[in-house]
Amino acid sequence: MNNNKYKLLLIEDEENIHNFVTALLEANGYQVIGARTCAEGTMLFSSHCPDLVILDLGLPDGDGMEFLREIRRGSVVPVIVLSARTNEADKVQALDLGANDYVTKPFGSAELLARVRSAMRNFRYSVHSGAGGNRYESQGLVIDYDARRVFCQGTEIKFTQIEYNILAFLSAHPGKVMTYAAIIKAIWGYNDLGSRKKLQVNMANIRKKLGAKPGEISHIVNELGVGYRMLRSDEE
Ligand code: CA
Repeated sequence: MNNNKYKLLLIEDEENIHNFVTALLEANGYQVIGARTCAEGTMLFSSHCPDLVILDLGLPDGDGMEFLREIRRGSVVPVIVLSARTNEADKVQALDLGANDYVTKPFGSAELLARVRSAMRNFRYSVHSGAGGNRYESQGLVIDYDARRVFCQGTEIKFTQIEYNILAFLSAHPGKVMTYAAIIKAIWGYNDLGSRKKLQVNMANIRKKLGAKPGEISHIVNELGVGYRMLRSDEE
């Protein structure tokens, strides 16, 4: 057994999917540890310290959300939720509980592999940029956190304090979808009926100032119905 392989914990009770995902990941050089219940997943998680977890939500002895809530008390390991639940509320809940990504069944093998690579990359990125990262830099956009100044293609752009706070918050989590609730909580500290509207108005202004044309992706991706995601420096 090659010890340099990334170790992935797969928690999935559907035999077909379990076997398919295991074969797919192993064929692509990952080591896979398989669990079919929450209890087994929890046990293997603590004994194996995996590099990434792929988590089904509907498990025989409980909900994958509970597993997620439990491990997030003490671990920042990337978690990809794999689920047949397609509604936004479930996606939002999983992301708010700390899932790094959400893949809806049925899914393609190329897609799952891409999400796995991306989750690992983001994880390494956030770990490495945490130390001395007083600056965000991507595609001509520079955010200087110490000076609270923003430059786009060399020109300074003036943002209101709220706009700047949103931008700084999103850019501190590059590549990760931040849900509306998470952004609102971080910026305003509370969530009321008008908050979502306020956020949307501010986001529209931020995007305009960054030079985004309607419908065009520019630095920030709008994940419809879920939240916003700042591009990582190695994207697009
Ligand atoms: Ca299931």
